[in-house]
Amino acid sequence: MFKNNLPLALVESKGYGHDVNDGVGLNCLLTQIPSHVRKYVIVHELAHRKEMNHSDRFWKIVAKEMPDYQWSVRWLKEYGDNVIERL
Ligand SMILES: [Zn+2]
Repeated sequence: MFKNNLPLALVESKGYGHDVNDGVGLNCLLTQIPSHVRKYVIVHELAHRKEMNHSDRFWKIVAKEMPDYQWSVRWLKEYGDNVIERL
């Protein structure tokens, strides 16, 4: 499944939702994303290893690593499509 190869945070930004058991992996897609957003994607995925949901606790873990993570969330919502089309 194509979408299973996308970083989880990017999949979520596209509204696919996510299945934490899919084994979503990072791939070359990340090289096309600004480094700040790339870091957010990784932080997001690592946070899911501690919290398998989007609870307040999950977002606190993300915010602790990246206080300005919302900038990246917005970037993914806006440009996520472009990145996927360029694959
Ligand atoms: Zn998530």
